Amino acid sequence: MGGVQLALNKNIDQVQSGKTNFDINDFDLEDDNDREDFDNKVDILFVLDQSGSMSSYIQQAKYTICKIVEKFKKKEYDLKFSLCTYIDHEPQYNILTDFTDLCSGKQIVEKLQTVIAGGGGDLPEAVMDGLRDGISKTSWRKATGKDEKSQRFLFHICDAPPHGKEYGFPSSDPLWTDNGCPCGTKREDIKNLLQLHDIKYFLIKPNGYISKMEQLFKECFENNYKDTISLLDNIEQKDGKTDNKETKTQMWEGVLNNIEKTIY
Ligand SMILES: [Zn+2]
Repeated sequence: MGGVQLALNKNIDQVQSGKTNFDINDFDLEDDNDREDFDNKVDILFVLDQSGSMSSYIQQAKYTICKIVEKFKKKEYDLKFSLCTYIDHEPQYNILTDFTDLCSGKQIVEKLQTVIAGGGGDLPEAVMDGLRDGISKTSWRKATGKDEKSQRFLFHICDAPPHGKEYGFPSSDPLWTDNGCPCGTKREDIKNLLQLHDIKYFLIKPNGYISKMEQLFKECFENNYKDTISLLDNIEQKDGKTDNKETKTQMWEGVLNNIEKTIY
């Protein structure tokens, strides 16, 4: 495991600015407030691990949101986004979560522009806090329709598991390894929040380190767990081992496909 741990260390050199490697001006993100007249309200929460190793996925998250806005501007949806980024509890890091409530695609991209990936200490991060704060702080909208709720999606983008040995990796503090996140939030609490607010959960999976989390969340969240959007290509090697390789699969394709499949 030594080699794996070494490769996973959140390196301070990985700290990057929120600058994108594509031109946001290529997208038509202008606000059009008259969308609020449309009946079909769609609320999308992005929960994003902001720790050092995530810098490349923050680029993809921005691009994904631009593509979603572009796509849905052509449809009669009243679409809003919220964002919750997270790193970790002290002493691992001095930022726990940062939340932006429902706003336009343009505003959420502007917010993402300021997100800097960095820090996090040990491998596990405050996954539970990001999910809990994102779900409980978002002002989910009412809508006209059979259940009088907006259609609600949560896209969770992360490359590290929560604290707790059942998720497969030790924390620096043995108490966190044994008992999970020091705030006490468990996956059952997240399940209750998903059910309460009627939210469809999607996991965007860039590596194999969150496979155990994926499995446990799937079992726990039941019907609220909709899908995993894998950015991996599992390549079977000659000796039968599976090698996780990153592919060029675009996050935005998976997100858009899933929204289109699920929306009514
Ligand atoms: Zn916590």
